[in-house]
Amino acid sequence: MMKTQFGRYGGQFVPPPVLEALNEVEAAFEQAKADPTFEAEYRYYLKHFVGRENPVYHARNLSEYAGGAQIYFKREDLNHTGAHKINNTIGQILLAKRMGKTKIIAETGAGQHGVATATAAAMFGMECEIFQGALDMERQRLNVFRMEMLGAKVTGVTRGTKTLSDAVDEAIEQWVERIEDTFYLLGSAVGPHPYPEMVRYFHRVIGEEARSQILDQAGKLPEVVMACVGGGSNAIGLFQAFLEDETVEIVGVEAAGKGLDTGQHAATMMKGQDAIIHGMQTRAVLTATGEIAPVYSISAGLDYPGVGPEHAYLQDIGRARYVAATDDQAVDALLLLSQKEGIIPAIETAHAVHYAIELAQSMTPDQVILVNLSGRGDKDVEAIQAYLDARKAQAF
Ligand SMILES: *Cc1c(COP(=O)(O)O)cnc(C)c1O
Repeated sequence: MMKTQFGRYGGQFVPPPVLEALNEVEAAFEQAKADPTFEAEYRYYLKHFVGRENPVYHARNLSEYAGGAQIYFKREDLNHTGAHKINNTIGQILLAKRMGKTKIIAETGAGQHGVATATAAAMFGMECEIFQGALDMERQRLNVFRMEMLGAKVTGVTRGTKTLSDAVDEAIEQWVERIEDTFYLLGSAVGPHPYPEMVRYFHRVIGEEARSQILDQAGKLPEVVMACVGGGSNAIGLFQAFLEDETVEIVGVEAAGKGLDTGQHAATMMKGQDAIIHGMQTRAVLTATGEIAPVYSISAGLDYPGVGPEHAYLQDIGRARYVAATDDQAVDALLLLSQKEGIIPAIETAHAVHYAIELAQSMTPDQVILVNLSGRGDKDVEAIQAYLDARKAQAF
């Protein structure tokens, strides 16, 4: 039996050369965690480059509109580059530097992780190559330009479905070829050990800050903490601070796409099965013949067929529950938050916002829901406009 980190989930389902590379990363990570100068450097860049700490904001108008619980947002959207992802890229790139690596490779889907990685690589003077599915490159021209402006090389992946899943496979293969001088900077709480633990570690700052901020502002722990789940990194960043607080309910919100029964969704926790994907044992959406299924969501950041192994575990033991919101529900929640509070959230985040409003309605005004506002919506404006145009056309 392979050793797994989260109940029966996790592990390292990779060929021997990759295992060697992972062992090197794991050893360096364990050393770094025990070194106060590493921690100090990490905190320095979070403060002066990322702009932490970011606030927790009481959304009074939205709460009043929902007519139940008080909704608070942890504002990861205010970070440099506009989302939580930079916490992790800063942490991993500092580790790469410590290991003496000079080159960074990474996968990206829509390009958000690619941009965060290219940003950190530029600042630390590291050579950077991003692997992106050829289809995603076409769909996300603007992010390709951003990465190139930051000095990164973007390489199209033409195998398989030419999307994120194939970019991960390509990055892992390339890593083994270049292990001497290259670090693989993985973008979510997924992949073989130690990546899920490492990504969790570098996002723990979200929950640390949020827990003390909400205690300060609401005067108590929240009844519910909530976040959207793609691979699950922003969610685990928040959740980990509340795992031991038995009174706090933990909720992850996935993408139901066009509907859970349409086959066009990315609801891994609700519709997935146990599977091995990208070097880990976890849950994944499979086809009738047991292959990894093509998944769909309006939100590129939630459009991943697997999920971080810790989420599969938290669901198994009943510590967290997982629900899903459709494209339509997410778009409506995005517009509502924009118009009630003057905050345009990322379309990924809007999935959690939808469910927060729904759940708030079944709660009382003295109760509190804390939602991770994982990113800002500037990147989504064109897609939302196209979506609304199509929806209007359909209505006639
Ligand atoms: C990438 C992204 C996500 C999804 O990734 P997780 O690893 O599940 O957090 C969610 N929100 C935003 C804004 C993102 O950019």
